[in-house]
Amino acid sequence: MFQLALNHIVLGAFAAIASSLVGMTTYRTVTLEQDTVVDFIVVGSGSAGSVVASRLSENPNWEVLVLEAGGQPPPESKVPGLSSYGLLSESKYNYDYKVVTQRHALLNYVNQGNFYPRGKVIGGTSTINFMVYFRGNRKDYDRWAGMGNTGWDYDSVLPFFKKIENYKGKHAKKYAKYHGRTGPLSVESMRWDSPFTKYFMAAGKELGLKQVDFNSEYHVGE
Ligand SMILES: Cc1cc2nc3c(=O)[nH]c(=O)nc-3n(C[C@H](O)[C@H](O)[C@H](O)COP(=O)(O)OP(=O)(O)OC[C@H]3O[C@@H](n4cnc5c(N)ncnc54)[C@H](O)[C@@H]3O)c2cc1C
Repeated sequence: MFQLALNHIVLGAFAAIASSLVGMTTYRTVTLEQDTVVDFIVVGSGSAGSVVASRLSENPNWEVLVLEAGGQPPPESKVPGLSSYGLLSESKYNYDYKVVTQRHALLNYVNQGNFYPRGKVIGGTSTINFMVYFRGNRKDYDRWAGMGNTGWDYDSVLPFFKKIENYKGKHAKKYAKYHGRTGPLSVESMRWDSPFTKYFMAAGKELGLKQVDFNSEYHVGE
C-alpha cells in the first residue's frame, strides 16, 4: 500500500514537471445557440472522430460540430509512460470498462477477465494510449478486401498511410517506400531507451532475429 502511494506521489510530481515541459493544447469549446445549423455533426473526438472532423473542416465552406462526452486532456496524456497504467486508470478520463470472463482468452488472468480502458476525453482513447504507431498486418487488410470490401487491401491503403505520415526517424533504404514525410501525423523513434532495451535487443540478435521496421512487410524479427 505504501509503495503504491509512493508511486502515485512520484508519478504526480513527474506529471507536474512534465506538464510544464510539454506545452498543453486547450481545445476550443462553444455554447451553441438553439437555431445553430451545421453541415456535419461528428459524435466523439477520438482517433477516428478527430480525423473525420479535421478532414471535413478542410473545406472552408462547411461548418463541422464535434460532440465529445469528455473534457480537456490532462498534461499526463502527453507522456506515454504515464497513461492508462499510471494516472489515467480509474479516473474521469477513462470509461473504466471491465472485460467479462472469457472462455477462450485471458487464460492467465484472475477470473479470465481484465480491465479495458477507453478514453472519455478530447482525443478519446488516443489521449490515454501508449502512442505506438503500428499500422497492422497486411494479411488483415487483404482479408477484409477478400470479404468484399473493395479498396481495403494493403496495397490500396498504403498510399493513405504514407499521405498522413510525417516520418522523422531514420530507416534503412529498403523501408523508404513504406513511409511518408509530409503528412500531419508525426512519427519518430523513441527518444530514450531504458538500459534494459540493449540487453533485450542483444538477446534477440543472439537468437538470430533481425531488427525490422514493424510498419513494413515484416512485424516480427526476420
Ligand atoms: C491502454 C491502451 C493502450 C493503447 N495503445 C495503443 C498504441 O500504443 N497504439 C495504437 O495504435 N493504439 C493503441 N491503443 C488502441 C487505440 O488507442 C484505440 O484503438 C483507438 O484510440 C480507438 O479509436 P476510436 O476512434 O475507435 O475510439 P476512441 O478513441 O475511444 O473515441 C471514442 C470517443 O467518443 C466519445 N463518445 C462516446 N460516446 C459518446 C457520445 N454518446 N457522445 C459524445 N461522445 C461520445 C468518447 O468519449 C471518446 O472520446 C491502445 C488502447 C488502450 C486502451
